[in-house]
Amino acid sequence: MKAAQLIAHGSPGKIELREIADPQPGADDVVVNVVACGLNRLDLWLEEGGLPVQIPLPRTPGSEVAGRVAAVGSAVTDWKTGDAVAVQSNIFCNECEFCKRGEESLCLRGELLGIARDGGFAEKVLVPQRALVRLPAGLEFETSAALTLAGSTAMHMLTDRAQVRAGDWVLAIGASSGVGSAAIQIAKQLGARVISTGSTEAKRSLAKTLGADFAVDSTNPDWPAEVRKLTNKRGVDLVVEHIGGDVLPKCFECLARGGTIVTCGATAGRDISFNLWPFFVKQQRLIGSYGRNRADVQTTLEWAVAGKLKPVIDSIFPLAQTAAAFSKLRSREVLGKVLVKP
Ligand SMILES: [Zn+2]
Repeated sequence: MKAAQLIAHGSPGKIELREIADPQPGADDVVVNVVACGLNRLDLWLEEGGLPVQIPLPRTPGSEVAGRVAAVGSAVTDWKTGDAVAVQSNIFCNECEFCKRGEESLCLRGELLGIARDGGFAEKVLVPQRALVRLPAGLEFETSAALTLAGSTAMHMLTDRAQVRAGDWVLAIGASSGVGSAAIQIAKQLGARVISTGSTEAKRSLAKTLGADFAVDSTNPDWPAEVRKLTNKRGVDLVVEHIGGDVLPKCFECLARGGTIVTCGATAGRDISFNLWPFFVKQQRLIGSYGRNRADVQTTLEWAVAGKLKPVIDSIFPLAQTAAAFSKLRSREVLGKVLVKP
């Protein structure tokens, strides 16, 4: 089969379309014919060698897979050839104390698809059967590949790690990002008043299209003042954050008394400092969020087929153009998801 493999780290790294052996399923495994696979910030970290773990190369990246079952192992009874599936990218063990209570995002032996093992920028991908989630009838593969990872990450943040009540003010950082675009839609569905941020007119316009009530210009150094103004100096109840660096401290300036920041990323920097005094006086919360549980993926796909959650797709590349897809995401000019279709 053909696979787009990372041969050498860098920015850009060296990505080549190579002919490699077809994966063979073990007893508990399934081989999926990849129809579409979403590109994520995680793929760029792998490309540039920026992950805190050493990854042996070559590696096939790609963690947001939608496709059809091509072959099943001898112990697989729930899946058959032709089934339409999404793959949960945080492949969990199903045996540790956290998996046993449905908290697969906390799995002690979790493996990331496309990082710790070969992923979906290939004609086929091999995964354990427990990683499969059935696609609801009528859901497009492209929609799944554009929502399964970032959409379920946002679902986990807004409905599991934190909760949204009708009437709450929610600030969703980065309207054009996968997590941001999903967070706006989920918060609106839950009855919130939503403010988002964007660095260009096009990104702020996208925020409004997705349902945000307001979109502030994140290139204005004092954009938190805009947020305070929009909420009559009260601040927001929940901030959905995924950038870190100098953005996260600014989120505290936007936060109401009793408010919560939930964060799932550190693209702009991993070390931050903030003033503890207003934090405890105002009884605020800072909550970490990582990946998703199986339930979050299922809810995301159900909302998608019901039309409550729509993907924003920037562009679709053929497998042979995977390196160009990486360049496109790296350029930061994207409005929504970049997909690869083998
Ligand atoms: Zn586990």
